[in-house]
Amino acid sequence: MTPRIAVLSFDVEQDCPPYLASTRGMGEGLPRILDVLSEEGVKATFFFTAEMARKFPGLVRRVVDEGHELGSHGYMHERLDKLGFSEARRLLEKATKELRRYGDTRSFRAPNLQLPDELLPVLVELGYAVDSSLARYKPPFPRGVRVAGGLVRLPVSVTSSVLRLPWRLQRLIHSALAPPLVYFSHPWEYVDMRSAPIRLDCRFNTGDTALNLLRRLIRFLRGKGYAVTTVCEAARRLGYSVEC
Ligand SMILES: [Zn+2]
Repeated sequence: MTPRIAVLSFDVEQDCPPYLASTRGMGEGLPRILDVLSEEGVKATFFFTAEMARKFPGLVRRVVDEGHELGSHGYMHERLDKLGFSEARRLLEKATKELRRYGDTRSFRAPNLQLPDELLPVLVELGYAVDSSLARYKPPFPRGVRVAGGLVRLPVSVTSSVLRLPWRLQRLIHSALAPPLVYFSHPWEYVDMRSAPIRLDCRFNTGDTALNLLRRLIRFLRGKGYAVTTVCEAARRLGYSVEC
């Protein structure tokens, strides 16, 4: 039986790409997430774009200093599946170099969860051990964790906006999911975006409501006996030989 492991992860990028270019999530959202994680005593993975790391170095340092995992989310949220191989490779290298100024990066998540298979060996070459770009709800509908192309592939369980659904509905969803549970959301979801001119799924229950729901999820998972941890640590605890 798969151990009860749950992962919290945050894709650190501009607000609701590609619809907005603002970065309210950085100044307002990310510090609030870090405060909640610290209060709850939980470690998470933060997949930064190199662009956000460059613009907000103090926040990357805070993430690393507080014991969270720093992962890569590409250079500036480029769609890797829409780039040629050599351009994609160049940006992955550049992003990795930028992020490793702050600490080791062993985990990767592609922007929009779009990672062409041909880039798996590039990630291995760059020293990544875990990829979390697959999603259980998207083709090829992975049923669990597997090793492919030398990387441990830890698929996300549900899309990010699920974490903003009313709790009584969310609770049913979480209870029905099979471990390991892998959640992701974004700093901008913890900023009040309800009046922003963007599509509804980028707006509903953002801000304080999302923050309270995050806290509630952490407490719920603990109550169910889940160990809440980072992407890399989850792979290690599942028995894969990765160094975190
Ligand atoms: Zn993203």
